[in-house]
Amino acid sequence: MKKTLLSIATMAVIATGCQHKAQLTSGVDPDNFDTTARLEDDFYQYACGGWMAKNPLDAEHSHYGAFDVLHENAQKNINDIIDSVSKAKNENGSLADKIATMYNLGMDSAKLQADGVSPLTPYLEEINNVTTREDVWAEMLRMHKRGNTVLFVVFGEADKDDANQCIAWAYQSGLGLGNRDRYCTNEGRNAEFREGYVALMEKLFAMSGYDQMSGKPAAKLAQTVMNFETRLAIAQNTQLENRNPIATFNRYTVEEAAAFAPNIDWKGYFETMNILDGMKSFNIAQPKYIAEVNKVLKDTDVETFKAYFAWHEIVSAAPYLSDDFVNARFAFFGTQMNGIEQNRPRWKRVTSTVDGALGEALGKLYVDKFFPAEAKTRMETLVQNLITALGQRIDMATWMTDSTKANAHKKLETIYVKIGYPNKWRDYSKLNIQGDSYYANVVRGNEFDMDYMFSKINKPVDKDEWQMTPQTVNAYYNATTNEICFPAAILQPPFFNMQADEAANYGAIGVVIGHELTHGFDDQGRQYDEKGNLNDWWTEEDAKNFDANKQALIDAFSAVKVLEDAGNGQPLYGNGELTLGENIADNGGLHVSYLAMQNAMQQGQVNKEQMDNFTPEQRFFLAYAAVWASNINDEGILNLTQNDVHSLGRNRVNVALPQVTEFLEAFGIKEGDGMWLAPEKRAQLW
Ligand SMILES: [Zn+2]
Repeated sequence: MKKTLLSIATMAVIATGCQHKAQLTSGVDPDNFDTTARLEDDFYQYACGGWMAKNPLDAEHSHYGAFDVLHENAQKNINDIIDSVSKAKNENGSLADKIATMYNLGMDSAKLQADGVSPLTPYLEEINNVTTREDVWAEMLRMHKRGNTVLFVVFGEADKDDANQCIAWAYQSGLGLGNRDRYCTNEGRNAEFREGYVALMEKLFAMSGYDQMSGKPAAKLAQTVMNFETRLAIAQNTQLENRNPIATFNRYTVEEAAAFAPNIDWKGYFETMNILDGMKSFNIAQPKYIAEVNKVLKDTDVETFKAYFAWHEIVSAAPYLSDDFVNARFAFFGTQMNGIEQNRPRWKRVTSTVDGALGEALGKLYVDKFFPAEAKTRMETLVQNLITALGQRIDMATWMTDSTKANAHKKLETIYVKIGYPNKWRDYSKLNIQGDSYYANVVRGNEFDMDYMFSKINKPVDKDEWQMTPQTVNAYYNATTNEICFPAAILQPPFFNMQADEAANYGAIGVVIGHELTHGFDDQGRQYDEKGNLNDWWTEEDAKNFDANKQALIDAFSAVKVLEDAGNGQPLYGNGELTLGENIADNGGLHVSYLAMQNAMQQGQVNKEQMDNFTPEQRFFLAYAAVWASNINDEGILNLTQNDVHSLGRNRVNVALPQVTEFLEAFGIKEGDGMWLAPEKRAQLW
């Protein structure tokens, strides 16, 4: 189970240069401020208002923030790498040749338009040839091998009782609209999304020729799929239910699963994916949903499965076909659902696709070119300082007994830290890239990834493997390996500034480090022990205190009105339950990094004087806010609030900071100010 810093994934360049203590900057940029705002009332507007005015949303974004600036830069850098690789004379079948071939096919607009739907047609014919229930099952297996996980998905993840072992997890999947709530509730614009989705299906069924091929009208096919997906959606867990690591682990042997859901040929499935040998047991994450799939396989007619399968082939192929397919899909998923006026230019889309297929190959070239060794060294020191500070915070907690504190220390001391890039790189020699079509290579890339994923099941977990590429602007904590990871691309301003005084670095990357460390101790992470096993290491009293203390964060984030009108005439509020783990991580990150900064100050590593008229404490919080500077439209707010476990950037500042007494003190914020929060409403956790 992986927890990230934010939901987007991106990349970029590190500014290098010689460092000289006397020349260190404050690390806060007054150009990013809006000094017309009163910081005591609206700290976010004060700290980020200038940035927001300078960086208005463009047609390509529903959301644009400091992370996105780095991502945009990184895309250019990765594109430069691809470009230089493409121009070199490459040996046939070499890594460089694979990168160049896939990229050039994606960029060849004339060929894409001329090919039209033809790269997809063989898959639709395969589906149209299905006639029996056995054929349905066989087709589903072929689709799963291609990474098109209709009905459900099987992937490798740690065993809850022995996190060293990777076992198979069967998990809910197969909804074109993503979140099950979009099918079953009228919250926000869900009713409108359902209509738009059916219209898109009708259009693409006709454009792909599947209506002609199957002899069924496109409108009828679309309605059939909508009805079927709605039935699946109703049986699926909510996002909140999926946050419960105990309820989503249900161990079955293959025999027990066959008794529980006999219409699913588990043995045949695992055999096909080459994971039956050595399988002792596996996890059915959502038994209620799998029970419904079991029924569906018996009582649904073959024609319904064919329409559903064909739709999922079409919608997953659309971004890699001719422009009419790309544009029709984008008009719904990009513009209608997310308020993005215009699709990204071709080079950005193709760069992302090649990066998705050959991420670590590009990552190796990226770190060689852009990641300085001294950034890694300085980051290692910062992480150690943050670990020390979290240890001190654990000792300071008044709500925790000594025995639980001892267990928390044990977990903290064994956290595995990854910085920059992996020690060993993934082998792409078996990835087959050919000159036939862009889409054919995307499919082969998916097959390669699925094979790789299945190959890890029923084996010990490889702890040196990275779950993000180095060119990703993000960070993560993984509970089952008890590891934190900071890819190279996040180690640059505004997160990490080699030229700045440490106060700003503690406020930015320091809080990011503290955030990831705290995930090991948030409402989910605390249920895992130092080995990554789901194991209750808490006394009853401490668990009770923790649950009582977290309520302050649930209440504060749920009370924020994020939209006056969510699109259905109703206001929309933040979801304090869904975002709880992330808000605990921000809260802990702020406290822990603040303490780490004070430790560093005592050791003379932070300039105690004012810089740019701000004390070190003030620079800490201003640098923290700068990380979350962003603009977002109403569609983006709706989408993130309903689907993202992270709070909106504005709330990660204006709702998170009043919880932190040191913030209120640093700026002399008093009762009556907009940023004030009464002491009894402030969370006491880490
Ligand atoms: Zn997080």
